Amino acid sequence: MSAQLFVVATPIGHLDDMTFRAIEILKSVSLIAAEDTRQSIQLLKHFNIDTPLTACHDHNESHKINQLIEQLKAGQNIALISDAGTPLISDPGFKLVRAAQEHNIRVTPVPGACAAIAALSAVGLPSDRFSFEGFLPSKASQRLAQLEKLKDETQTLIFYEAPHRILECTKNLRDTFGAERTVGFAREITKTFETIKKMTLGELVEFVEQDHNQQKGEIVLVVAGAPQEKDLSQEKLDDLLKRLLQDLSVKAASQLVADLTGIKKKIAYQRALELTQ
Ligand code: SAM
Repeated sequence: MSAQLFVVATPIGHLDDMTFRAIEILKSVSLIAAEDTRQSIQLLKHFNIDTPLTACHDHNESHKINQLIEQLKAGQNIALISDAGTPLISDPGFKLVRAAQEHNIRVTPVPGACAAIAALSAVGLPSDRFSFEGFLPSKASQRLAQLEKLKDETQTLIFYEAPHRILECTKNLRDTFGAERTVGFAREITKTFETIKKMTLGELVEFVEQDHNQQKGEIVLVVAGAPQEKDLSQEKLDDLLKRLLQDLSVKAASQLVADLTGIKKKIAYQRALELTQ
């Protein structure tokens, strides 16, 4: 008889965000595989859950898997939890879920909190299309290379960041994406010092630099996608530039056209120069 592996989300701060179903399942399974058992004991105590715990984290996941798969095959239901939020989302669990599937073991999600989705739901940036980017590389050169690849992405981008790197990361974002790009800053979601703000990347650097409290706790950055290049015919672009060039400099006219239409400023500038010659 094959049992089920439940992937159970837990709160990201406020314990009341634990779902009824999560409590029920954690009470009913034979074993809970947790990222850090010391951390999870606190949560389980709070909800009077006395199910046995075993550690399943990045360092032992590979060899722990066989053991857990054997237990599942023997008919024992197992729940997977991480320190906070949804397992597998910048947290361990992927290898276990994949192994369970390979052994035809049913994997059942028990949804709940996820910092990325909570941030996206509250910062007021387009949420119809978004890309979860997780943590950027810790090495500066790799981080900048990654941002360079993302700078023309038109979807909303979601990043997780550690507090000790937040200032450097916001500066990297500003320098790569431009100071005018809009960003949502979501810190300590559901906790006492929850801060949710929307501003430009330039303003965010100042905000984080001037108030050291903003460099503490847990942070999600939600960055607006690059402006979409509108379908603009050469004729319409020329008409617009010609009209603006009657009153404005080449620089100002091309900046305005880039802002209004989403076409690259360099292209608008080049065309404006040609039209004035
Ligand atoms: N699995 C988790 C989830 O579902 O969101 C994410 C775990 S990841 C190791 C931890 C990162 O998530 C933090 O560095 C931070 O970027 C983000 N995070 C977690 N809790 C948060 C909170 N309460 N407020 C803001 N960000 C949070």
